[in-house]
Amino acid sequence: MNENKLDDKVIVRYPPSPTGIMHIGNTRSFLFSYLIKRKTGGDAVLRFEDTDRERSKKEYEDYILETLHDLGIEYDRGPFRQSERTEFYVDAIETLLRNDDAYEAEESKDGSGDKVIRFRNPKKKITFHDVIRGEITIDTTDFGDFVIARSKTNPLYHLTVVVDDIDMGVTDVIRGEDHITSTPRQILLIEALGGIVPRYAHLPLIVGEDGKKLSKRHGAVTWQEFKKEGYLPEGVVNYLALLGWHPQDGDEREIFSVEELTELFRIEDVSKSPARFDYRKLDDINKVWMLKMEAGKYTEKVLEFLPEKMRELFEKEKEKGRKIIDLVIRERISKFGEVKKMSEEGEFDYYFQRPGVADEVLIFKDGSLEESKKYLREIVKKVSDLPENDWKAEKIKELLWDWSGEVGRGKVLHPMRMALSGAQRSPDPFTLAEILGRDETLERLKKK
Ligand code: GLU
Repeated sequence: MNENKLDDKVIVRYPPSPTGIMHIGNTRSFLFSYLIKRKTGGDAVLRFEDTDRERSKKEYEDYILETLHDLGIEYDRGPFRQSERTEFYVDAIETLLRNDDAYEAEESKDGSGDKVIRFRNPKKKITFHDVIRGEITIDTTDFGDFVIARSKTNPLYHLTVVVDDIDMGVTDVIRGEDHITSTPRQILLIEALGGIVPRYAHLPLIVGEDGKKLSKRHGAVTWQEFKKEGYLPEGVVNYLALLGWHPQDGDEREIFSVEELTELFRIEDVSKSPARFDYRKLDDINKVWMLKMEAGKYTEKVLEFLPEKMRELFEKEKEKGRKIIDLVIRERISKFGEVKKMSEEGEFDYYFQRPGVADEVLIFKDGSLEESKKYLREIVKKVSDLPENDWKAEKIKELLWDWSGEVGRGKVLHPMRMALSGAQRSPDPFTLAEILGRDETLERLKKK
């Protein structure tokens, strides 16, 4: 084993392969790496592992950069591209060949096919300490003399990772547990190249409700999808941190800013068991972050997600828009995309436009139209004296609550709600009245 010591300065790496839109699992690995770098005052290196030239695409790099930027996962060096670092790999391959740690051979055992470069596997047991899982021993015999390059200028994954980690001085490798079996192979290569073995932490798999690896079938799995649904970076970062980790010593908190995470997060506290992705919990956490937003910012976000026509109405009738946001939207939604759906389902229409209300819908259960109309007239009488500047849901409720309790709440509140909204599903009539304002409320009640 190498006697060299790791540098004091922590160096972590974000090594995505730009062959698709980055899965939230990789994003979590980078977030954990980032927290460690931030806590220790270390550095992070971003490198695109684009040795698969066919599948690697510039647009995927852009999505990765966008994800890191939006979520505030900062890096200090890079982005590097493995496709631009061939000389380093050629160097390593030559060293391994020269030292007889690698050799050229036919691709397949029967002597057919192209020549490839194989690593001369010493076929021994490799033991490494995983910060999360403790000591792991894997016998490398079964890996045989594995292929490390298709040719001198065409290196494969294990070699490029090792060469880069050594060259970039990486001290801490934090990645998904699907890479555990890569580690012994990579340690063999590090030893052959005279590098220093980094610390390893293999994070638990992220699974869906059915216990299977989280994938599209379960719901959104990339930051871009979450962003489109109107989740906040703060909410997603907060939730990602809880995938496999929670603070120790009975600390039950679940809401953490990135500053708090930096303070509290310890990679050794990460759990070994699979982390279940709970979309409902993500929603709850996201909602907390939404409610922490400054009012102006919140409104901006709502407007951004509203369909254009509705946005125009909210902007034209600013005061009404503000009331709808404060009294209806804030409590209801856990991601901004929900306002689009509400709008499409007509949940805002009746605030801006008098609904056509058929007489029958005013009738409560087995009551009569006459009865409903009578109560509507009573309501008008009882609330008419309330001046505009007192026209609040609470006050209106006060005026009607006891009386409606006596005659039967539904008999009073149902026709009131229907006269104001005309919709089967709508907020309670007091909220509707406050949003519509005094004059419009009285008009709608009288019209019936
Ligand atoms: N490019 C690899 C991936 O995206 C990186 C694996 C590693 O962390 O070594 O899975």
